[in-house]
Parts: sequence; structure tokens; C-alpha cells
Amino acid sequence: MNKLAINGGLKLRTIPFPAYNTIGIEEEEAVLRVLRSGKLSTFLGTWHDDFYGGPEVRALESEWATYFGAKHAISVNSATSGLYATVGACGISPGDEVIVSAYTMSASATAALVYGAIPIFADIEEDYYCLDVKSIESKITARTKAIIVVDIFGQPYDAPAINALAKKHNLFVIEDTAQAPGAMFGDKFAGTLGNIGIYSLNYHKHIHSGEGGIIVTDDDVLADKIRLIRNHAEAVLSARGIKDKSELINMVGYNYRMTEIEAAIARCQLKKLPDLLTQRLANTHYLNEKLSQIPCIKATKIRHNAKHVFYVHPLQFDSSLAGMHRNRFIDAVKAELPPTLLREESTVLLSYGYVKPLYLQPLYQERIAFGRDGYPFSLSDVTYPAGLCPVTEEMHFHRLVTHEFMRPGMTKADMDDVADAFQKVWDNREELL
Ligand SMILES: *Cc1c(COP(=O)(O)O)cnc(C)c1O
Repeated sequence: MNKLAINGGLKLRTIPFPAYNTIGIEEEEAVLRVLRSGKLSTFLGTWHDDFYGGPEVRALESEWATYFGAKHAISVNSATSGLYATVGACGISPGDEVIVSAYTMSASATAALVYGAIPIFADIEEDYYCLDVKSIESKITARTKAIIVVDIFGQPYDAPAINALAKKHNLFVIEDTAQAPGAMFGDKFAGTLGNIGIYSLNYHKHIHSGEGGIIVTDDDVLADKIRLIRNHAEAVLSARGIKDKSELINMVGYNYRMTEIEAAIARCQLKKLPDLLTQRLANTHYLNEKLSQIPCIKATKIRHNAKHVFYVHPLQFDSSLAGMHRNRFIDAVKAELPPTLLREESTVLLSYGYVKPLYLQPLYQERIAFGRDGYPFSLSDVTYPAGLCPVTEEMHFHRLVTHEFMRPGMTKADMDDVADAFQKVWDNREELL
């Protein structure tokens, strides 16, 4: 008689896990307030007071800047737009090189490509999965202009070491903190650790407004350029007057503007962030203790002096102890568990690895981005062979396990079921061999 669900046994649990829904009456009222005002967006793409957006947008930006301790906060319609505007504002030019993690959401790297720059993938740290400073150093050339660090899974990057390296080589540090709102290094918030940081407000993040992003910086010049790129730069600059032709670099503008409705929702969500993080961290702590009792699972490490906010909860799998590959074991755990309500009705929130190392995507393998002739890769000799970032590949294909069973809304009893599913598979592992 088989016991494991993957072999036809009974599932440990069939009742779905509770939903993670951060939207409530506050957001309803905020949206109604905007609808009743009739002003759903007041942005104007000309040199006018409304160039900076409407009252909700401006209030959100001011509240965000205060909360995170930044001089400027600039809202955009996604973190992807935020990354693109940031690379543009840094003056990155065709053929320049931008060092970026291979283990991140795709936009961290395409931000370089859209300005004709070449993403150079560096490897990650074995314990924290953020960019490894030694790997970055080995990739710096005379063409390097910026490092895009990612606070992956909610863990802040190695700010002291990477900032010092960037300073030595005169590089921008662009912090993709889409997964880490509220994370800290020392007494500073993630997002404010480099020259410029980008948060995401998409549906899947800690807090959201459906879609949205926020850029923070203390640099007045970068902030001004980002506001221009957000809102039709080229149509606005003539009215402001150009003193120096270099001011035109990357000033082809876009429309990356956030609406008043999203801004009103995001203001409510920001107020909820501290409480949501407290619950998420307590849940993660509970699960980390329980799951690390399973012999083949290693608990998460948190960087010294850092606060991790766990967008996902990463764990490492030891296949020599389990006697089988990670994927076999995790497939068996997944078979024991139900999906989660609302966001992922058909998905068990447990995975092996995260996203495939970015350089293995066809875009990089074929070196085809814009047009037929391979621009911008045609400006560079760089290639993206398999094995380029060995730690990233080892983590993704063999060792890393990620789950989201620590979202607020999960009770201790729910989390006990998760731990029991791992335990059941461990106890009956002979069935899988
Ligand atoms: C979600 C995410 C983004 C993109 O955010 P959008 O707001 O959806 O554009 C960028 N980088 C990372 C690391 C992300 O997780």
C-alpha cells in the first residue's frame, strides 16, 4: 500500500489554503473618492504644474519618500518602467555594459537592453542569492557603467562591499527592490542603499495597486530626468530651455504615468505595510523552524545587520541526505498539499528553483533583441554560454526550494499542515527511490 499522494495515497490536505488579500474597505473608499472627483489622472505632457501629476500621485510620492527616508519618490506605472527610466536617467548609452544578476525577474536585465546597453551577468552568493561582489569585480571593464543589484526574495544586497566597489570604479548602483519593500540594512531601508531604488506595486508583491512602481533617490538630477522620461521628455524640454546639448541624452520620453486611482490605492497599501510585514515575518520564522527539522532542508540565512522581508521563503535542499534529486522530493510534497485561494486557485505555492537563469533565455542565446541585425548585441563580443554563472545554475537546477506558505492569512494550523507534508514525504521517502 502506497502512502504518498504522488503514488496514489491520500493527500495530507485537500481544503485550500486561505487567500492573501490586502485590499479592504480603505481601498474601496479611496477609489470612490477619486471616482467622485472625476479626476482620474491630471498629468499633462507639457511644461505646466500638472506635469507632475494629480493630488493622489503627489501625496503618494511624498508619503513614500517620508516612509523610506528618501529625498525623492517618483511614481510610475510599473517597476519595469521604473527600471527603464532609471537606466535612461543614468545616461547609459549603446554599447555600455551593465552588470546584473542572472537570478531575477527578466526586466532587471532588459532595462539595459532598451537603451542599447549590454547586460553582463554576474553570479550570486550561495547563502543569500544576491549578486556576489567578487563575481561583479571580475566582470568590470572599461565599458561598465552601472550595477543593477536585486534584493532578491526580500534580502538586501551586500551594500557595503558592492557600494565600495562601485565607488572605486565610478559606477551607478541601481537597486531593484521590487521584492523587498521594508527590508533594511543597518538603519536604512532597501531601495535607498544604492544611488537609486525601484519598488513594484504589481498584484503579486507585498503591497500592490494592481500595477505600479515607485523610484526613490536622493539625487536631484536623476530625479528630474526620471520625471522627464516618465512624461514625454522631448515635448517638455524646449519649454524649459536647454543649456547644454548633453541634457538631451536619453530624453526620448515615454508615458509611464500612474493614474490617481492606483495612487489612492497605493497610499492605503503603504499604511498597511508594517503590519503585513510583522505577520509575514512571524509566519516565516515559524515555518523556518519547523521545516529545518526535516533533515534534507537547510534553513534560510539572513545577512548580518539585515532585515529580510521574504517575498518568497527560500530553502536549500540536500539531495545526498534525501537520496534523491530535489525535484522528485518536492513534487511529492506538492502532491500532498492544496492550492491557495484567490490568487493561485490551481497552484500549490511550492517550487524548485525560481526563474531560469536569464542568460539561458532565447533572447540572449540567439543575441536577438531589436530588429534583424542583433542590436544591441552586435555592438559587443559578449556571449552567454551555459555555465556562465555556476552558483546560479546549481541553485536553480539542483538546490533551491521556494514557497509562499508564509503569507499573512495562513494560520499556525495551516502551516503545520505544510510542515507535516514535508515530514510525511521524508518518512516515506523509500517509496520514491
Ligand atoms: C516584480 C519584479 C519586477 C517588475 O515589477 P513590475 O511592477 O511587474 O514591472 C522587477 N524586478 C523584480 C526583481 C521583480 O520581482
